Formats: sequence, C-alpha cells, structure tokens
Amino acid sequence: MSPTTDHRLRVSRDWSTRLLDLLFPSRCVNCGRPGAALCADCLATIQPISSPTCPRCGNPLSSPDAVCFDCRAHPKTITQIQSVCWHDEVARRAVHALKYKKRRDVAPELARFLVAKLAVSELDIDLITGVPLYPVRELERGYNQADLLAIHTANARGLAYKRVMRRTRATRDQIELDAAARRLNVKNALFADEQQVAGKNVLLVDDVATTGATLEACASALFQARARGVYGLTVTRPRPGN
Ligand SMILES: [Zn+2]
Ligand SMILES: [Zn+2]
Repeated sequence: MSPTTDHRLRVSRDWSTRLLDLLFPSRCVNCGRPGAALCADCLATIQPISSPTCPRCGNPLSSPDAVCFDCRAHPKTITQIQSVCWHDEVARRAVHALKYKKRRDVAPELARFLVAKLAVSELDIDLITGVPLYPVRELERGYNQADLLAIHTANARGLAYKRVMRRTRATRDQIELDAAARRLNVKNALFADEQQVAGKNVLLVDDVATTGATLEACASALFQARARGVYGLTVTRPRPGN
C-alpha cells in the first residue's frame, strides 16, 4: 500500500469516527450510562496497585526494596517498569474497549492514571512514546491505543510525544502466548530511531504489562539506538496468578 493510500484511508477513517461520535455520543464502557467513556462512579472502582512492587519490573512483592525472583533469574534490560492499576473488572473492560471495540474515547480516561503516577514519580523524562503496533494492525484498528495513551499523557504533563519505534515484522497478539513464547515473539521485531532517542530518557507507554516481554523488547531496541534510560509505564497489570 502506498503512503498516499495509507494517508487517505486514515483521513476517511478519522471523518467517519467523528461522524459516529456526533450521532452516538459516548457511553460508559462499563455501565452504559450516557456521558463520559468511563463515568465517575465506574472510574472510582478501579483498584490502584498499592502493595509493594519490584523496583525493577513492577511485579508485586511480599517484601519491599529487593528485586523480584524473576528479575534475579532473568536480569532485565529495561531501566524500570511501573503499572498503575490492577487489570480486573472495570479496568479490564476499559482496556478491552480501547483495544478491540474502537473506543478511542477511553484513552484520555485511562491516561489520567498515567498522568497521576508521573506527577508523584521523580522520573526525568525527555520524551514519551507508545509501544508500536505492526502497521497493518494499526491500520485495521485505525489507531495505536498505546500511542493515544502516550499522547494524552504527554499533553497533560507538558512533555514531548514522539513516534520513535516501528515493528519490522508482524507478531502474534501476545495474549495468545505463554511467557517464553512472548519473549521469542517480539525479539528482533522492533527498530528504534537513533537520531531521536540517543542520549534520551524515554518513557514507554502501553495499556497493559502482562509479562513485560513487549516492553523489554522495546527497551532492547531503544538501547541499541543509544537511549540513556527506558522507563515502562502501563495503565494495568494482571494480579499475580491471573
Ligand atoms: Zn459507568
Ligand atoms: Zn522484578
């Protein structure tokens, strides 16, 4: 597909999305109430992760201030991963609607959690980017949900959003795979733009961190392009054992 065709498709999709927004105003993805994409009542039920977590990968821990078993067994490349909420009930439905039901209006609601986390963290970030999708998948979906979250977060925090990575081959949806298969699935499938990331601290945004394999693969690509630090930040993470 030529870049022009790609662009035209994108523009017509944008228009049809806007028309649909006018005809059918937003409803809460959880309770269906008209108004916001996530109403205040449903938003308030989303559970933040408040237990101690691994300072490296964000896994829940029984004792604070030590890296988790997984980080000791498989040392990670990524500087740090943090997630804000548990991936259950309302949060899970909201992420699902954003990813699979074309509810891009959920992105600003979920980005609030990332913005709040950044407001209390002491990360020194030069740019924000989203975990990339393979271009064909992004075209099918009409957007990359991770980029939408990254853009809303960057705007709210007055930080620079940039697209600095691309997928160089199609990968299967991580949700279908176990941990080892996930690591293989994304290995060497990503490429980062050295001109944009060399010497920079990059905040890498995604909707959910399951094993962290995708964030880790992105971090490898970013470090190959000489990024200084790579900080993963996701809205949700499944509870241990889920
Ligand atoms: Zn609701
Ligand atoms: Zn860890």
